[in-house]
Amino acid sequence: MKIYPRAEHCISRSQISENALKVLIRLKKADFEAYLVGGCVRDLLLGREPKDFDVATNASPEQVKQIFRNCRIIGRRFRLAHVFFGREIIEVATFRGSEPEESDQQVVHENGRLLRDNVFGTLEQDVWRRDFTVNALYYNIRDFSVVDYTGGMQDHAAAVLRLIGDPAMRYREDPVRMLRAIRFAVKLGFTLHPDTEQPIHSQAELLKSIPSARLYDEMLKLFLAGYGLQTFEMLRHYGLFAILFPATDECLQTLDHDFPRLFLIRALENSDKRFAEGKTLTPYFLLAALLWEPLQLAAQTRIAHGENETLAYQNAANEVLTRQIKITAMPRHITQSMRDVWFLQNKFSKTVGTRPYRLLEQAKFRAAYDFLQLRAETGGADPELFDWWTRFQEADEELRQKMTAPPKGGSGKPRRKSGRYRGRTKPSNQE
Ligand code: ATP
Ligand code: MG
Repeated sequence: MKIYPRAEHCISRSQISENALKVLIRLKKADFEAYLVGGCVRDLLLGREPKDFDVATNASPEQVKQIFRNCRIIGRRFRLAHVFFGREIIEVATFRGSEPEESDQQVVHENGRLLRDNVFGTLEQDVWRRDFTVNALYYNIRDFSVVDYTGGMQDHAAAVLRLIGDPAMRYREDPVRMLRAIRFAVKLGFTLHPDTEQPIHSQAELLKSIPSARLYDEMLKLFLAGYGLQTFEMLRHYGLFAILFPATDECLQTLDHDFPRLFLIRALENSDKRFAEGKTLTPYFLLAALLWEPLQLAAQTRIAHGENETLAYQNAANEVLTRQIKITAMPRHITQSMRDVWFLQNKFSKTVGTRPYRLLEQAKFRAAYDFLQLRAETGGADPELFDWWTRFQEADEELRQKMTAPPKGGSGKPRRKSGRYRGRTKPSNQE
């Protein structure tokens, strides 16, 4: 064990959220131990602003609740206390113990997965339950030192992500650690220690045992935290993407052209850019992009079997979503928005008469239009069609009338064939 006194690290109280400090100090006053731990210490050491602040203590969740009125005990797998300050939540976890035989509070699944873990212990025991060495650094509110049992400070300085203990066993205990390894490596710009990296390829399959609700949450953190593209590449490299999005992965492996890959890359790039600009990211847009190619494939198969286009797309959407939900449980409002974005795509080809006006009024028009842009930029839709919609939105009423007038000599019916653009169809209504 090594203690780094205040003079030997760069964490200062001014960087710590006031609410987190309040929690630490109140615990200390009540004669409990109190530390900042996990991602916040790791991020503060990098000079970055932490996403949130986690506290570790020897007070039980019930004792924490007695100290803070604004507190709720949550969790089954890991019971902990949430202390609320308006919108900020400080998570207070009681030190985990290390003796599995102690009680029925720790339940091990037959393949080594930890299902419940509520045996409390000391800091010295808690350390070994954490995932990576750089996540196991404790900032002590008593003397502002950093306590390091696992060599986390050295790994941190060397920008190495290393799992504590035997990696294969730690991944078996909780396969989500494989996803966390990728997420942190990308976010921090750290390299995976060879021992931490090596078992991932062969253990990726273990992720299949994780409840779909938890995988959905993890998936959002992977793709919507500003590093989606790099994360996607790395997940693919380790065979983890295939577990999360099997249908998409199948499409990527059998592509006859670059469109699906390019399209996904552009979608992820865009959302990373939006994140960097501080804009909000909606999960449904990216999810619609991730599952777009499987949707196309399923719909085309159905059309080839004689289903009409509208029905084929509806059934294909059901098919694709039903399969995906078993892996990453998506809330209903998300899948509904995905459907909206998908189904509007085919409607963009109708540029004659009153239909374009009605399309403009759809709640998901903007998202669907952005989606069309992505497709147009990556060879999946006609760029001229996208231009048409850009001009249509900007046009005054007179110009809009002209743009939507039936072509001279035509029947008034749109001529465009909708469906996937392969560079063959032309926009039906050029000026
Ligand atoms: P961030 O909040 O920036 O995403 P974090 O490291 O704080 O990263 P959290 O999920 O907030 O991640 O977890 C807080 C800490 O709890 C981690 O740093 C780690 O020490 C421990 N921890 C979280 N999940 C696990 C896990 N699956 N196995 C072992 N330890 C974990
Ligand atoms: Mg955290």
